Amino acid sequence: MSDSTECCICFSPMKLPYTLDCNHTFCYLCIKQSLFSGNKGCPLCRKKISDNLVENAVSSLQVSSLQEINSSWLYISRSGDGWWYYDEETSDYIENKWIEYQKNRENDGIIEINILGMKCTVDFDLMIQKSVNNHKVHARKIIRKDKVNPDKIKGIAGVQKKQ
Ligand SMILES: [Zn+2]
Ligand SMILES: [Zn+2]
Repeated sequence: MSDSTECCICFSPMKLPYTLDCNHTFCYLCIKQSLFSGNKGCPLCRKKISDNLVENAVSSLQVSSLQEINSSWLYISRSGDGWWYYDEETSDYIENKWIEYQKNRENDGIIEINILGMKCTVDFDLMIQKSVNNHKVHARKIIRKDKVNPDKIKGIAGVQKKQ
C-alpha cells in the first residue's frame, strides 16, 4: 500500500487500524462490516480472514485515549458491564436524528439506522437500540446521550480502552 494511512474500504484516514494476517490494514469497523456482510476474505488479497477476527480484535486492539473521541451517544454492552461509545459516524447520525426529533415531536421517535450492515431501530422514548432481524434479548441495547467522564467508558464500538 502506498499510503498506509488511508483505508482501502472507506477511502478515509484509518480509524482504529487493524492489521490482518496477510498484513493488510483497514479500519477495524470497516473490516468488521465487510466480514458481517459475508465477505470471508481480505478485500485486497482475498486471503481468508480468521473466523474469530472480532474476538481477536477485542483483545489485541485498544484505544489509548478516549479523550478526543467525539461521540456523545453511548450504549451499554451485551454483558451489561459498562458504557461504550458509538463510533463517531454512528453517533453523529443518531445526534442529527435526535435534534430533528426534539424539534418535531410529531413522529414516533423511532429511527432506522444501519450498524455494521445490520438494520436496527433506535427508539428515543425508550432509549433502546434494537436489531430489526434479530429479536433476541441481547440484540437490544440501552442507549443514552451524555457527556461522561471518559475514564468511566469501556471503549468505542467494541474496541476496549487501554487499561
Ligand atoms: Zn475504513
Ligand atoms: Zn490482504
